[in-house]
Amino acid sequence: MECLRVEVDLDKIAHNARELVARLASRGISVTGVTKAALGAPEVAAALVAAGVPGLADSRVENLDRLRAGGIVAPTLLLRSPTPSQIEHAVVVADVSCNTEPEILRSLSDAAERTQVPHGVMLMVELGDLREGILPVDLACIAELTERLAGLRLVGIGTNLACRSGIVPDDRNMGQLSALAEVVEARIGRSIDVVSGGNSANLAWALETADVGRVNDLRLGEAVLLGLDPTTRTAIDGLHTDAFALVAEVIESKRKPSQPWGSTGEAAWGEVTLAGDRGDIWQTILAVGHQDTDPSGLEPPCDIHFLGASSDHLVVETPERMTPGDELRFIPGYGALVRAMTSPFVGVAMIGDGQG
Ligand SMILES: *Cc1c(COP(=O)(O)O)cnc(C)c1O
Repeated sequence: MECLRVEVDLDKIAHNARELVARLASRGISVTGVTKAALGAPEVAAALVAAGVPGLADSRVENLDRLRAGGIVAPTLLLRSPTPSQIEHAVVVADVSCNTEPEILRSLSDAAERTQVPHGVMLMVELGDLREGILPVDLACIAELTERLAGLRLVGIGTNLACRSGIVPDDRNMGQLSALAEVVEARIGRSIDVVSGGNSANLAWALETADVGRVNDLRLGEAVLLGLDPTTRTAIDGLHTDAFALVAEVIESKRKPSQPWGSTGEAAWGEVTLAGDRGDIWQTILAVGHQDTDPSGLEPPCDIHFLGASSDHLVVETPERMTPGDELRFIPGYGALVRAMTSPFVGVAMIGDGQG
């Protein structure tokens, strides 16, 4: 096993998924499980499916490949528009993709016709966060185009808030999404199946609003995997927030002054903030750094304090001397997790099977 590793507790992920599936079912909303923070790990996907998640989504075709290669047969949604060079790949690996551009829709239709399997389309609508999305005034027109393209099947509409500008879902923007579903249906002369309200940032709205309107799906990554509400980065009641842990090894531990000495310039990773002179402390170095994760996004064990990090060294204060080879466990936030899962230097160890 790699010494530097992410430990993934599949039973905790399954618990989180079961809870969210049940809570949202009472509001008429189904959960699409988003695997991108786990890079499409089939074990994580299997735990989500066993917990009652009916469909899976990822932003990268490579991660969807991993799901399929790992034997996952659940329906798949590609969360990010395919690039022109990914069109052929996208129609093979995704049952449905999120789209906003007519050129891409035409190419997807041609590619799907060649495979003779209709490709599903979810049209994304811009509702204020200013990331991807068709402006509401243009939606009906692009829906009609999608409906006319022989290789495509318009399954629904969706929106994505909070990710770029922190715009939170509320009755106003979600009400607009419901109204747009009806505009699309009026234009194409039939009903659509899916109205996808958004990501984990929608959870609080979906569980608390008086009326969810037409919203019948949420695409959940962070809430399921980390048990966090991304709008506040606080724990969701009853969910595990420690399903993932980054485990790193000590390579040095010495009694050193808390203050550096000499004249100062810029540090390797930008400015340094110094806490002031606290005399000598136990300074411990772990073999992990910016190249492996986002060090400032790691929550250390409670008696350990973050001091600094460079590409390959994470420096912490420990209450006593540690021995090289000792391990410390950190709880990664979303950004730290994505980078750790993506680093070739970090192993992954699955714990449990998530099927219980
Ligand atoms: C990443 C992503 C999600 C999932 O986001 P979380 O905050 O992890 O729940 C949903 N939809 C889209 C389009 C995404 O890119």
